[in-house]
Amino acid sequence: MFVFKVKKGINQVIKVSERNFVDATRREEPFYQTINGKKRHYAYCPACENPVMLIHVHVDNQVVDEDQRTLPMHAKHVKSDVPGLGKYNQAAYDTCPYANPSSSTSKKRREQGAVSDELLWLVKTFPDAIDIIIRRDVGIAASEKLFLAMLTNFKEEEGHLYRYVSKPNLPYSSMYRTKLSGSAKIQTS
Ligand SMILES: [Zn+2]
Repeated sequence: MFVFKVKKGINQVIKVSERNFVDATRREEPFYQTINGKKRHYAYCPACENPVMLIHVHVDNQVVDEDQRTLPMHAKHVKSDVPGLGKYNQAAYDTCPYANPSSSTSKKRREQGAVSDELLWLVKTFPDAIDIIIRRDVGIAASEKLFLAMLTNFKEEEGHLYRYVSKPNLPYSSMYRTKLSGSAKIQTS
């Protein structure tokens, strides 16, 4: 994923970049740790609040791995407890929109009711707010066409009925549900 947060219990989404990470953590523990002689960089997942590890922190732009894949700096869920950061929560991970697609897109549905009605109402009533949050926090300026496609897709897939879709992650999950292409591609891990 390309977002993280450093404080639990608040609606915070920071775009992954070395500068943002240094600014947010001030290079302090528990975000900076040395484990078995190796420097590690941690934060929290903005959605499920489990620990995430920042990969390729000191790499400008991209590196190429053995398989010739380019790997930009990103964050990855840590599926275990991290000292100083807290306990790993499997249930939260299972409903995380940034988690492994095989689990997060599992067709776990909620019953139609107050929660889903409110989500749908938010999407219909405040599409501009969702657009602004995506631009501000994720750094993606969706074209009008793409943004419309996202909303249409959300409606058609009945995104409001997915259990992992919640009020705090609504902008990101509506984006996640859409198959974006080219430079606007969202990677999850
Ligand atoms: Zn997560």
